[in-house]
Formats: sequence, structure tokens, C-alpha cells
Amino acid sequence: MLTSQKTIAAAAPLAALAFEPALLSRMNQLGPRYTSYPTADRFSAEFDAEAYHQAVSERHAMGARHALSLYLHIPFCGTVCYYCACNKVVSKNLSKAALYLTYLKREISMQAALFDGMNQVEQLHFGGGTPTYLSDRQMSELMAHLQRHFQFAPDQLGEYSIEVDPRTVTPKRIVTLRRQGFNRLSLGVQDFDPAVQKAVNRIQAEEDTLRIIDAARFAGFRSVGIDLIYGLPKQSLASIGQTLDKVIAASPDRIAIYNYAHMPHLFKPQRRIAGSDLPTPAEKIDMLFLCIQRLTEAGYAHIGMDHFARLDDDLAIAQRQGRLHRNFQGYSTHAESDLVACGVSAISAVGASYSQNEKTLEAYYLRLDRQELPIARGIRLNLDDLLRRLIIQHLMCHFELSLASIEIAHPVRFAEYFAAELVQLRQLEADGLLTLDDEWISVTTKGRLLIRNICMVFDRYLDPRRTPLRYSRTI
Ligand code: SF4
Repeated sequence: MLTSQKTIAAAAPLAALAFEPALLSRMNQLGPRYTSYPTADRFSAEFDAEAYHQAVSERHAMGARHALSLYLHIPFCGTVCYYCACNKVVSKNLSKAALYLTYLKREISMQAALFDGMNQVEQLHFGGGTPTYLSDRQMSELMAHLQRHFQFAPDQLGEYSIEVDPRTVTPKRIVTLRRQGFNRLSLGVQDFDPAVQKAVNRIQAEEDTLRIIDAARFAGFRSVGIDLIYGLPKQSLASIGQTLDKVIAASPDRIAIYNYAHMPHLFKPQRRIAGSDLPTPAEKIDMLFLCIQRLTEAGYAHIGMDHFARLDDDLAIAQRQGRLHRNFQGYSTHAESDLVACGVSAISAVGASYSQNEKTLEAYYLRLDRQELPIARGIRLNLDDLLRRLIIQHLMCHFELSLASIEIAHPVRFAEYFAAELVQLRQLEADGLLTLDDEWISVTTKGRLLIRNICMVFDRYLDPRRTPLRYSRTI
């Protein structure tokens, strides 16, 4: 196995990324991924369905300026992948999905009534679990229900995406999904290496995945993405290199490479992964560098953290134009949209609020049986939260921040309001992760890999004396 230093030395374009081992281990701490700020562990039961109604009323009062984003959570999976940290229900009993859909449709109707008059939609995402656990017929009926309740922008304007597990679909099903209205899909691959697949209980023939990609192109999907994971058991630089070769040859529009976070104390399936099979933090850094090097050499833009996109893909274009955003699905091109999320455990972001649905099917069904929106908890953001959210989002998406732009948008003097944060940023500057002057915070190439650490400086809820075990390591 190569060390990080050796890998980088061999990768001239990435020489700027060299990390000293001491810095690496200091930075490899537990921290949020900032798909929201404040993070979901700050949500409280005090924010209930009534508070959500209030947040929607305020949006009505202000007038809708942007179309909505919709998220639908389909929690079912046929088998469990041992690395999984998602909220899912593993079952081969398909009748469970039928029951779930009756409740999901009820929730969709209730949300649509709330948003009546501002129910245009430009972005729809199906996630899970496994959205393709649903049959063709179930999916058609669900899409028809959505179309009865919301006004969808035409295909060429809207982004309608679905996460597809290649093990659950045929090329014919892909053509049907396109007909049902989806124009983007992402395929879970993780790693093509059979030993890795066996270690994570996700056996997925390479030919099947490639056949699904071909089918998506044939069917006219505008964007095809592939999801990989680094840091899995039995994974090595060599195995991940071979997977990258195959992925690059398949030429998807987007590639996400997630860092496997081993947290068996939180996620039961992960207890079936032997710690001794996992790569070390230094090996994981090597893997990440290899991914960045190979993908940028192959012509992909490094969008940030774990996302890559072809230069002509909407994400790369949005980043160049300063329109990139980050939400619960990762990076997005729809900056100011309210996100209305339906389904068990789904998280909505409406105005200055976040809200999360009940996490178990039983509680979700019970609330809907009572004719209530199944909101279990949430948070209303105060002015300080909004300011910090803006800063964190900007750093995550654009890797720089104009201090003047913050002072114009919010009544604060940056140097005074964030005096303590600036002291911490100076330390990160000394570590080579950013540069700081009176006008700008600019993240360096090296700092991009540790952007979570940089954002953590602005997180007022993080208690340095109490490292929360629910967060993953930043490397
Ligand atoms: S990783 Fe995806 S397919 Fe695998 S168990 Fe988790 S939600 Fe289901």
C-alpha cells in the first residue's frame, strides 16, 4: 500500500494536496456533512406540525418566488448492504410497499393543499431505501398522484431524478422510468470489485450496471450519475483504481464518491463489517487522492467534497456561475427553492425552517391516520442561524467568501461578530487550508478536501469539549 505522501509525489498535479501525517490526524475528527445548518441533531420536538403550517403561511404571505423541490422517500430494500446508514426497511414482502403508498399519497395530498397557489415544481427527487423497489404500476400511480396535485415544469426545464439500484431493474424498466417523467438517474455502484461486494453484501454484476447505463442513454435520460464509496472493507488502492477505470470508460455525467463512515454503534448492519478489513485513514486519503486525480484527468470538475461532474453538466455550469447550492441530496442547482419532503423520516426545508417526519412506519401511519402531517421534530432558524447557514453553504459550494457580501446582507461587522472564528481560521491558514485577508476567505486546493473542518469553525452548536458520536470522521 502506498502512503499518502508517496501517492501525492507520484501525482504531480495534486502536489499541492500533500498533507503532513500530524496535520492529517489532527484534522481527521468527527464532524457534520452540512447538508443542513443547523444539523439535524439540533432539531427538536418543539417544532411541530403547527410550526410547519406557520412556516408555510409565511411563504404564502411573501409570495412564491421560486418553484418547489419535492423529495419522496421510499424506505424499502430487498436485502441489506452492510455499510448502510440510511433509514430503510428491509423486506421481501411487497405488500408493505402497497400500504406505505396509500399513506404517502395521503401526505402528498395534504402538503399540496398547504402549498395551493404556489405548487409549481421544478425539481423532484426519489430517494431511499430503494425507489425501484416499487413496481412499474405503483410508480405510475404515484407519479400520476403527484401530477394531479402539483404543476410540474416541462421536461426540458425540470430536474426529475431517481436513485436506481441496478440489481432491481432491467433495461426495459429504465425506459419505463423515462416515460414516467424521470430525466436524471443515479446508480448505486460502490465498487466493482467482487471481494468488496461480498464483504458488504451487495453483489452486483458489472455487466448489469453497464447495461443499465446504456439503457439510460438510449431512453434519453439527460444525466446519468454513478455513486461510489471509498473506505469499504477489502478495498485497496488497486481495487478502487480498477473500479475508476471502468467508471470513466462508462462516462457518466456525474460521479459521487462517498466516504464510508464506520459507525457500528449507530448503524446495526455495520456490525457485520470486521474493523480489521477496513483501510486505515492514511489509506483512505490515498484513495480519495487517487479518485480526484483520475477523475480530474478524465475531464471531470471537482464540485466539492465528494462530487464530480462533466464540465457540460448542470452542476459544473452552476458552480462556474456561482449558483450552486447544497441540500439534503447533496449539491444542487436549485438555490432558493423550498424543499417539501414526503415519506417516513424525510426532511423538509421551508423558509427559515427544517422539519423531519416520523422515523418509524408505525408512527408515520399513526399521525396520518389522525389527519395530521407526520412531522416529529424540526427547528426554526434565528438570524444567527441564517447568517451562519449562508456562510457554510457558500464555503461548501464556492470555496471562498466575500466578507463584504456578508456585511451587506446582514447587519454585522464580520471582524467583530466572528472575532473568535477568525482566530481559528488563522490556525487553518497556518495549516495551508485557506487564505484570509480583510476582504476574503479563500479555501486552498488542500482545504477543499477538509472543507467540513473549515465550516465547523462557523458552527455555533458544536461543543469542542463533547465530540458527538453521531457524526462521521471528516476523512
Ligand atoms: S445502501 Fe441503499 S440499497 Fe443498500 S440497504 Fe441501504 S438503502 Fe438499501
